[in-house]
Amino acid sequence: QQIVPVNLNTIVSSTLYFIDVRFQSQGINIVERLDPNLPLIQADSVQMSQVLVNLITNAIHALPEGGQVTVSTRQKDNAVILAVKDTGTGMPPSVRKKIFEPFFTTKPVGQGTGLGLSVVQGIIDSHDGSIQVTSTRGKGSKFEIRLPIKHVQS
Ligand code: ADP
Ligand code: MG
Repeated sequence: QQIVPVNLNTIVSSTLYFIDVRFQSQGINIVERLDPNLPLIQADSVQMSQVLVNLITNAIHALPEGGQVTVSTRQKDNAVILAVKDTGTGMPPSVRKKIFEPFFTTKPVGQGTGLGLSVVQGIIDSHDGSIQVTSTRGKGSKFEIRLPIKHVQS
């Protein structure tokens, strides 16, 4: 793990660039809403990119045709918030309770490992962050990650 000061906006943009190329052909609309004044955070950029890929992949899987995924960044108090929101299927509470368990999946055999969100959880924990999920069946889901702004000692 290589923790250095990073701008999360840069990681979002470069990660989305590759995802856009893969999915724009399927009529999926990915919207970026980045706070231009976002402070730097201490993070591993490869791991943060993995977090985004896992969340955005899940969001895309939950979408009907013509759906939208919004990725946003903002500052809130002493933290940076990274949110991935979709207009997809949402989850019933029975599923919502289990999504961070390793190997839990609702996808057909061979289509989901059930590891994406447990990997996300592990990475966020190792950054002293936290994740909040809100989901409404038939309306969509939102994953909000809070990462503390730590000031570098001088
Ligand atoms: P996998 O994608 O391999 O199933 P994950 O750990 O990434 O494993 O996700 C676990 C489960 O959480 C998924 O199978 C799905 O039921 C649910 N899930 C995750 N993200 C979303 C989302 N954005 N919308 C609806 N369900 C979701
Ligand atoms: Mg997944």
